[in-house]
Amino acid sequence: MSKHSEESTEAGVDYMTDARAIAVGENTPGCKKRDPIVVAENVTRSFGGINAVDVDYLEIPRHKITALIGPNGAGKTTLFNLLTGFDIPNSGKWQFEGQSIAGVSSYKVARMGMVRTFQLTKVMGKLTVMENMRLGGSNQPGERLSRALFKGVWGGREKEITDQANVLLEKFKLDTKKDDYAASLSGGQRKLLEMARSLMVRPKLVMLDEPMAGVNPALTQSLLDHIKNLKAEGMTVLFVEHDMNMVRHIADWVVVMAEGKIVAEGPPGEVMKNPAVIDAYLGAHHDVDLGAAEGIRELEKELVADEESIVGTENAGIIAVDVVAPELILSDDDTRTEQVRPDQASTDKDKE
Ligand code: ATP
Repeated sequence: MSKHSEESTEAGVDYMTDARAIAVGENTPGCKKRDPIVVAENVTRSFGGINAVDVDYLEIPRHKITALIGPNGAGKTTLFNLLTGFDIPNSGKWQFEGQSIAGVSSYKVARMGMVRTFQLTKVMGKLTVMENMRLGGSNQPGERLSRALFKGVWGGREKEITDQANVLLEKFKLDTKKDDYAASLSGGQRKLLEMARSLMVRPKLVMLDEPMAGVNPALTQSLLDHIKNLKAEGMTVLFVEHDMNMVRHIADWVVVMAEGKIVAEGPPGEVMKNPAVIDAYLGAHHDVDLGAAEGIRELEKELVADEESIVGTENAGIIAVDVVAPELILSDDDTRTEQVRPDQASTDKDKE
């Protein structure tokens, strides 16, 4: 039996069709979830006089796709940075899988199974695609000086990592590029590489910061399928996104931030009608259609018409090594670059 089918049937639940209520009780900001994977309390982070994050209480539901939305500057990326150990809060505690991870460094958080990608991708341009993938592999005994000279000790694990990387690169249609420098990839391909690399640790929670930003519309369908397949394989997804059509299409649950606080939570249809969200999100511009971009309209049509979607199929296997990857479309003309706020670009750079 593939890993996918084992996980999908865990406790008799198929994650793609599980329609049980996500919240316990009312869908209110900070509401308790039936099965949370992350629980955060009183998390605050200020920059100068700005309270970038001021979250009283937040639970992220396990085995669901949760979208974290909110206007520019709402604190979404800062919250991601804090939860994953890339930034230090002024106060707060949080748990992942019941274990306190406040103050735990980012690489340890990743090895515990909570991984993230960045708005501005962090693939290493001067390394090849395969070398980037290998760097994502956990538990590499050859890294230790005491063992480095004895290939017999680490050669087996090295091969496992390469095999796993090959499987993932094939799934993400990057296998033909594995010997190319990552710098030669398009913006969308770099996003795929970063996502594929994050899966090398076989994570339980995958956090994606604006996965669609800078991605050519030709690649959005396969990116959406990849994200849904993470859920099909038993992973939990939390993603930040401005594109409301994408949120509507793939999120099971939406958390809305404004001025550092959680101002609403609920299923997409319910949250997007909430006047508090419209106010927070659109301010005075109630007449603006956030999903008006032509490419996104096209995507919406494609999604409705798409009968070939691999989402949720038995052979979705992203992590499993014993299933054959379905065909995904990867366009070579995916050449658009990512749009990143200047202050964010410098923040990302500082952390490299
Ligand atoms: P966007 O949707 O535009 O990416 P966001 O919701 O992710 O926005 P953050 O990037 O988390 O928002 O920023 C929250 C606030 O904190 C903003 O006012 C931002 O300018 C500020 N901020 C974030 N990082 C820093 C930093 N390193 N130094 C100073 N201010 C910062």
